[in-house]
Amino acid sequence: MNIILLGAPGAGKGTHSEMLVKDLGLRHISTGDLLREEVKKASPVGLEAKGYMDKGALVPDAVVMKLLAEAISGTGKSGGFLLDGFPRNESQAEMLEKELSSAGISIDRVLYLNVSEAVVIKRLTGRRICKNCAAVYHVVNMPSRKEGICDKCGGTLYQRPDDTSGTVLRRLDVYRKETEGLINYYKAKRILKEVNADLSRDDTYALIRESLGGK
Ligand code: AMP
Repeated sequence: MNIILLGAPGAGKGTHSEMLVKDLGLRHISTGDLLREEVKKASPVGLEAKGYMDKGALVPDAVVMKLLAEAISGTGKSGGFLLDGFPRNESQAEMLEKELSSAGISIDRVLYLNVSEAVVIKRLTGRRICKNCAAVYHVVNMPSRKEGICDKCGGTLYQRPDDTSGTVLRRLDVYRKETEGLINYYKAKRILKEVNADLSRDDTYALIRESLGGK
């Protein structure tokens, strides 16, 4: 099964991706993670992407598409994958369709995590991430046992530069202008299911599993 998780920044795409890939044995493809990896390596792609990411803007389609195509190639027809943070606009959706159809695969389901703006702002500005293993915490909702230290690996927790309040507002604006239109795009293809993502992590996840027919 091939799935796209669609939703505003802070809708819980990363958290639910982790749960879904574990339960369904899917391959997790997050363009945000792939880009952050490039930034960390200071590769030419990373150096180009960083400026856009720090501002909360979208990285140019061609750059993201190249990373995505590499990640998808090799998945083959078996197993399935979960796309998290891609596509972000209609032209990426069309490029994805072309890429997949030449490999004889298609998207089975688009899960739209519908979240309110107030919830997003609280979630993102309180989010902290482990520098070492990328585990995700929240200063109020899911604090680590020792402040600033990862429970899982002892790594240092940090705030993503694009999770500060000004940049969060800009990312939301970009989402509304560029990405939100994909809801209707996938509705028209009759593969979109909407899930209330304002609920707790576990309640939202139960709705996600239900919308996948308990699969
Ligand atoms: P995310 O981790 O999905 O919130 O992505 C973090 C940042 O990476 C975004 O704010 C964009 O700057 C960039 N990014 C991630 N995915 C894409 C994409 N599909 N297209 C363009 N930029 C992206």
